[in-house]
Amino acid sequence: MLLILKPEAKPESIQNLADRLQSLGFIVQDILEEHTHMLLLAGDTTYVDCDQFARIDIVDSIMKVSEPYKLAGRKFHPDDTVIDVCGQKIGGNHFAVIAGPCSVESEAQILAVAESVKASGAAFIRGGAFKPRTSPYTFQGLGLDGLELLKKARQKTGLPVVSEIMNNNHLEEFHRDVDIIQIGARNMQNFSLLREVGQLKKPVLIKRGLANTVDELLMAAEHLMVAGAKDIILCERGIRTFETATRNTLDLSAVPILHKKTHLPVIVDPSHGTGSWTLVEPMALAAVAAGADGLMIEVHNQPEAALCDGSQSLTPENFEKMMKKIFRIREVIAE
Ligand code: PEP
Ligand code: MN
Repeated sequence: MLLILKPEAKPESIQNLADRLQSLGFIVQDILEEHTHMLLLAGDTTYVDCDQFARIDIVDSIMKVSEPYKLAGRKFHPDDTVIDVCGQKIGGNHFAVIAGPCSVESEAQILAVAESVKASGAAFIRGGAFKPRTSPYTFQGLGLDGLELLKKARQKTGLPVVSEIMNNNHLEEFHRDVDIIQIGARNMQNFSLLREVGQLKKPVLIKRGLANTVDELLMAAEHLMVAGAKDIILCERGIRTFETATRNTLDLSAVPILHKKTHLPVIVDPSHGTGSWTLVEPMALAAVAAGADGLMIEVHNQPEAALCDGSQSLTPENFEKMMKKIFRIREVIAE
């Protein structure tokens, strides 16, 4: 629901009204467009008495909004959201690459990878500490020790840390130690996790579920936003189709579609999207050409010995080669 305010409404009265509506349980977003001040109400407005709202002295008129993603959608937030994490920006004209191993395995491994990806121009270090593995018999991650090692990598390189949270048990540690909290594909529709993570009000990277539509990804982002998160990065990482030549089918059309629908930054993960290191560079270049605001790339100093996803991990040398081409494509599309 949109409350269009009278031109003479004073800032204090607008704030008072916004506070009142918030205390009634609505999520209120202040919008100023072409000199018209509006309050967007998200939440359950099914039982709102429109006539009563229309009688509020500073309200000029009321519009029912059927848009399903009121906060994540572009309709009421036409400008691109630019997320600034420890000085690294992503979104709008800012492009950033998140790189690192699938899993944090040891101090030597994460430090070596962090230093090499930084030298090649990555803006963030990634690494899983809690891993969602298909088989219970494979490496499940170092857990909290992995987060400690990521902190060391941040200390050494200055790169902010991206890591996946799997459940509500470690909210406090992720809030304290991780700069961008990742929600993995398998948890994209874990709504209670989305609510809890959203309440932390930290930057979140949410990956598209294996069998989810673009609209479902946007609704998942909406859950995070309703809970309080503002800085959300959406990640296309491939979906399940009948095709078996690749691990997943990387849906690059999601990039321009999402850009049309949302103001949030959109990145692409060609590592999980293809499952094969030989396909990572071509699909990364294609993603950048399609307008992605960033990439997530798995890099390992010894892919053949990786405990997880070695077959889709680039060596630091191949990552460097790819990054040079990425920056050249960025120049072309910025023209
Ligand atoms: C990951 O990024 O480590 C990961 C598990 O990816 P996804 O959730 O996309 O499978
Ligand atoms: Mn992985």
